[in-house]
Parts: sequence; structure tokens; C-alpha cells
Amino acid sequence: MRIKHVAAIAAAFTLTLGLAACSGSGAGTTAAPSASGSAAAPAAAGALVGVAMPTKSSERWIADGNNVKTQLEALGYKVDLQYAEDDIPTQVNQIDTMITKGAKLLIIASIDGTALTSQLEQAHANGIQVIAYDRLIRNSKNVDYYSTFDNFKVGVQQATSLLTGLGVLDASGKDAGKTGPLNIELFAGSPDDNNATFFFNGAMSILQPYIDKKVLVVKSGQTDFKTVATLRWDPATAQSRMENVLTSTYSGGALVSGVLSPYDGLSIGILGALKGVGYGTASQPWPIVTGQDAEAASVKSIIKGEQYATIYKDTRELAKVTVAMTDAILKGQTPKTNDSKTYDNGVKVVPSYLLDSQIITKDNYKKVLVDGGYYKASDLS
Ligand code: BGC
Repeated sequence: MRIKHVAAIAAAFTLTLGLAACSGSGAGTTAAPSASGSAAAPAAAGALVGVAMPTKSSERWIADGNNVKTQLEALGYKVDLQYAEDDIPTQVNQIDTMITKGAKLLIIASIDGTALTSQLEQAHANGIQVIAYDRLIRNSKNVDYYSTFDNFKVGVQQATSLLTGLGVLDASGKDAGKTGPLNIELFAGSPDDNNATFFFNGAMSILQPYIDKKVLVVKSGQTDFKTVATLRWDPATAQSRMENVLTSTYSGGALVSGVLSPYDGLSIGILGALKGVGYGTASQPWPIVTGQDAEAASVKSIIKGEQYATIYKDTRELAKVTVAMTDAILKGQTPKTNDSKTYDNGVKVVPSYLLDSQIITKDNYKKVLVDGGYYKASDLS
């Protein structure tokens, strides 16, 4: 691992030197005015677009990458699509290479939203515009646009599905008058992913009043973001934290009624830990476990009555919006955005396009996911 990191950093360094030499010769810097969409002719037809995705370990990113690539190619662009297997130096290196290869625009779903400052500086110095894809890139003025979902709302939906599953809310979303106390546990996503905070804050905006009224009790006492966050969204990390919580807090016989999980991969780890101590039987039913991404494995779990809900974010739509942004930018036009206040990356508010998401349970998966063409029925059997 160490050797891999050192090698990647060395490679990135060599590339940076190469680039510096390149821009010194004028090849890189002369492109700047045209690609930034101002006076000179826009760089469009046949241009190379670099697409950096975080990992293939989750289906959603595979779908995202494929959708973006296919749609860009259909418009005549060339695409360099790379996955970094959740390794920050690998992603840094891939972006450096895209710049060296002459990409005219970068679409980046970052691993660590704070780790790309010098790459983006280099990109802008070469007239390359940058779209943050789904995850905001922080602490850089060189992020031009952001395409994503309404991430606070995703968190609200996760908490709402938890409350509905627990019977605290009825099907119409009204308080059902349950007094509890119901034991729940909380999980959040990766602390270096800006979305994780949005999901958690959205969820807590709904759960906190019920915690305050003692309808819900976080029995482990673990409620702050840092404690419940899961580095790199790693399912094994979530599983082992759930196992620890079960041992430390529930070995006396108390039962877990619900778990706020922000991502389907974590939900699978959490369900594994619960199964290990006997949940998932007639005498000890599964707690209500939430999720996100409507990944096939988790939709199957929902159909079987294990995971309770997930949040569906149509990655085809995200690709569509991002490709439209790319096309507009490369043609020297202003891309369409629908939010100019929510996503402050620490240096600037990044103009964004936010899409809608939807709660999925056993009751509506067929109508939304299968009839909507996101999955074939056979993908879920
Ligand atoms: C995405 C989620 C995804 C998570 C883990 C987040 O940035 O918005 O859809 O579940 O990363 O991959």
C-alpha cells in the first residue's frame, strides 16, 4: 500500500513537472482564452473530456461513468473515463494525466473533496473548465459548475423512511402518535465527502425533534457526525462499528429498532452485523434499515424484507444534466443551473444543477425502478 502511494505521488510529481515544461513552451497556456468560453472560438467538436470517477466498488459509479461516457460520445466528444478505486493519489494522478493528454473539460466525482486544489489550478491555467460531479470539490476557486441531487433533501428522505418504517409517521407522512422509546443507531458517510454532511444534517433535521421528545433513543449515545462517520463509505468499517455498538450497548437484551444508514453498501454491512447476533428471524425481526442509491443488491434485500428502504437517484438524469453542461461550456455558452446559493465550497458558491430523489420501499420499487426502466425485472430476481 505504502509503496503504491509513494509511486503514485512520484508519478504525479513527474507529470506536474512535465506539464510545467509544457505550459512553458506555450502549448498549454495558449488554449486558455478559448476554452474558458470568452472571446476566442470555443473548443467543441471532437474535444477530449476527462471523466474521473471514485470507485468501481459501488454499482452506482459504474452506471454514472458509463452513462456520461455514452452520452458524450453520442455528441461526438472523445472521453477518457478513469476510476481510482477510492485511492486519492491515484485520482490525482489520473487528473494530471487527463490534463497532459489535452482534455478540454474535466468532470470529477472526487474521493476527497479537498485534495484536488493544485490539479484544478493546473487545469484552469490550461483553460480547462471543471464540473464537480455529484460531490462538491472544496477549497478551490477553480470549480466552475456542480451537478448533483438535493443532498439535504436526500437526508430528509432517509430519516422520513426510517420514521415511516418505525411507524412513527403514517403512510401520508403524519405523526402516528407513537411514544416510544424506540432504540435507533446512526451512521454517516465519509467525512471527506461534502455530501455526507448534507445527508446527515438533512436526516437530523427530521430525527432530532423525536430524539428530544424521547420517542427515539440513540442508545449508544453516538450522535455526533465525527463519531458516526464512515471513512471512504466502507461497508466493512460500518459493519465493524455496528458490531461494536451491538456488543457495547445491546448485549443486555435491549433491541435495535432502527438504523439510519446513508448508503446501500453500508446498509449491507450493518445488516451483516445484525444477522451475526440473531436478527432477521421470526422472534427477532430486522430493525428498520435505510439506504441510498437503489443498488440492485439492496433492492433485492428490500424485496426480501431485510433492508427497509433506499433513496433512488436517477444517475441517467445526472449524466444528462452534466453532459448538457459540458456541451454548453465547450460551445462557449452558459450552462443551465437551478441553484446559486446552496453549495459554498469554502472559497465560492458553485453554480449548481440539483436533481430530485425518491424514497423506494417494497411497495413502489416495481413502479419506479422497473416500470421506469432503471432496472429490468430480471436484474432484481
Ligand atoms: C453519493 C451517494 C453515494 C456515496 C457513496 C455520495 O457522494 O452522493 O450517492 O451513496 O457517495 O458512494
